[in-house]
Amino acid sequence: MVMQATLRQNFLHFLFGLVLLFIPIVFFLNHENQTALAEAETHITVTAASLNVRTLPSIEGKIIQVVHRGDIFKVTDTQAGWDRIELISAETGWVKSDAVQPTLGETYTVIQSKVNGLNVHRSADLQSTIISHLSPGHDYKVMNQSGQLIEVQSPDGPGWVASQWVTQQLKQMDSAQKKASVTAAALTIRELPESSSQALGYLHKDDLVRIQSEQAGWAKIMTSTNIIGWISKSYLSFSANDKAKKNQSNGTTTSSTPTKSSNQTVQLAAPPSNKNVLKGKTIVLDPGHGGKDDGTTSVSGTPEKTLTLETAELVAQKLSLAGAHVVLTRTNDTYISLDKRVSISEAQNADAFISLHYNASPIPFVKGISSYYYTKNKDQELASDILDGVLSSTGLSSRGTRFDDLHVLRENTQPCTLIELGFVSNKSEDQAVETNRFRIEVADGVYNGLVTYFSSK
Ligand SMILES: [Zn+2]
Repeated sequence: MVMQATLRQNFLHFLFGLVLLFIPIVFFLNHENQTALAEAETHITVTAASLNVRTLPSIEGKIIQVVHRGDIFKVTDTQAGWDRIELISAETGWVKSDAVQPTLGETYTVIQSKVNGLNVHRSADLQSTIISHLSPGHDYKVMNQSGQLIEVQSPDGPGWVASQWVTQQLKQMDSAQKKASVTAAALTIRELPESSSQALGYLHKDDLVRIQSEQAGWAKIMTSTNIIGWISKSYLSFSANDKAKKNQSNGTTTSSTPTKSSNQTVQLAAPPSNKNVLKGKTIVLDPGHGGKDDGTTSVSGTPEKTLTLETAELVAQKLSLAGAHVVLTRTNDTYISLDKRVSISEAQNADAFISLHYNASPIPFVKGISSYYYTKNKDQELASDILDGVLSSTGLSSRGTRFDDLHVLRENTQPCTLIELGFVSNKSEDQAVETNRFRIEVADGVYNGLVTYFSSK
């Protein structure tokens, strides 16, 4: 046993050395990749009140559409004072460059229903079960798209709609400072900025939301599960550091009025103990599957069990270096029952149990990362903090944090989550996730997620 532990430590040191060697390469690749992405995916926002879109980069060109201030479009070409933009109809046209400006930050697509009660289907098949209905006049975030079908975040979870019944629009992702946290114990998300409007979902105290716009006492928000809707502004705190503030003062004050004091922000800029927040914490990492259970198989032929173990090893290193006590449910290719995985979590009295998996779908273009919880109070915050961490380190798209009846979560009395780290059934996502660089990014993301999680405890 002791022998094994020593070998393992040497192995970890060796791996850590390798990681250090890789860091400059990773930075370099990252930088290159971002440049390439920026070139491939430039968007512009219209600054003129109204702007003609023409068939040619010249005022001689025929006008095919008029667009308006605030509209966002993808740029496909540029030429002496003109930008070629992609319209929602997938047609392209030319606009004058001095009437637009580059769109900063990420963009995402929303749809609005053109009909009342638009059917949302469980899968990308209009014959599949209807799980929800959409109303006009409300934005729903697009998660995936293929020809005539669009996957959106409906009030009842992700589902598919027919594109002929919707209009699409690009939106700009708000930057970090436009985040706010909920101060009410429970808060209803409404379809429209009116208290009589239909409920789309609920938020709880300290949930974080992104603000999209504000109007007469209401804020239009997007939740960490991608629900877009309106909530009363009086139950929002706009200081991103309020949560940390509350922890510093041992939770003695819970104000229900929004606070915007700038000296709070200054005071909290660097919580002194943040760096050591993982020290002494017991983290059980659970590489999914193993032995006779391969899990899924990637499009390039790798069994999920191999990817989860390789990922868990890098996450373990990162957390160990931060002073955490890390336990893996398996360290090699062996079969471990779900009960055994839970009993390791219980025996270790885990401060966090994290099960790592890779996803697959029969629909080849489905992609993105999701995390799961079973017991909302105990697990949802961990699930969403880990997801947020991994999303920002890897740059993959979000499928949100969701409830699911999963054995390793349901039977586990310790704080626990399961994360699906991308779809290995999607060719381009598989190429991205089957790299050491991706696994290092996951390790960084899990680490950052845990720092956020334990900082609020
Ligand atoms: Zn799995």
